[in-house]
Amino acid sequence: MARMKSCFSGDMDAWAHAHAARGSAAMSFEPADAVQAVQLARLTQTDSMLVVALFMCCQLPARQILLGGGQAGRLAAEDAAACVDGRMRLLNDGIAATYRVFNAGRSPLCADAKHCVRFPRAVLASRIDVDRACDGALMPVLDGWDELVDGALVDGKLCKACGLHYKRKGLQERRAFWRRLPRYMGVQASVWVSFDWEGDDDK
Ligand SMILES: [Zn+2]
Repeated sequence: MARMKSCFSGDMDAWAHAHAARGSAAMSFEPADAVQAVQLARLTQTDSMLVVALFMCCQLPARQILLGGGQAGRLAAEDAAACVDGRMRLLNDGIAATYRVFNAGRSPLCADAKHCVRFPRAVLASRIDVDRACDGALMPVLDGWDELVDGALVDGKLCKACGLHYKRKGLQERRAFWRRLPRYMGVQASVWVSFDWEGDDDK
């Protein structure tokens, strides 16, 4: 149980690290293990674990959510329904969050108006492109927008000040996203863990 909890932690930092490494130091997991984590969380009435495990299940193919497969077993109908609803909320808010980050204007300290006006427009255009809108939109909390911003900085498409500006906004969105995670998953978590972000610079 302790091993499972370390992988499906309500602590954003611990969880993000575990996810990035495909498992915590105590245990490695495949995405389909999330199905078993949901069952375990139900059994032990561990709400925070249930939230994260359902969130993980949302990343599985729909077929696996609904029909199960392999050793992972199958979600209860109620949990599969929570994932279907959850995916819709995650996707919707993932796209909306990208708008909130990149539609807020440039940094007041912007040093390159020409490029820095273009870049956020291009990002937003990709969100309404029918073939690309869903790329990564499900999981802003996992990936954020840092990679996108770093690429733009390297390519000279953003000035440094705007790079920081968007990263800060992205971090705020990721925190808010994590706070809302129980609501997305339809779980009334009595305890939902706050977090101590590394590199938190907007205090
Ligand atoms: Zn700028």
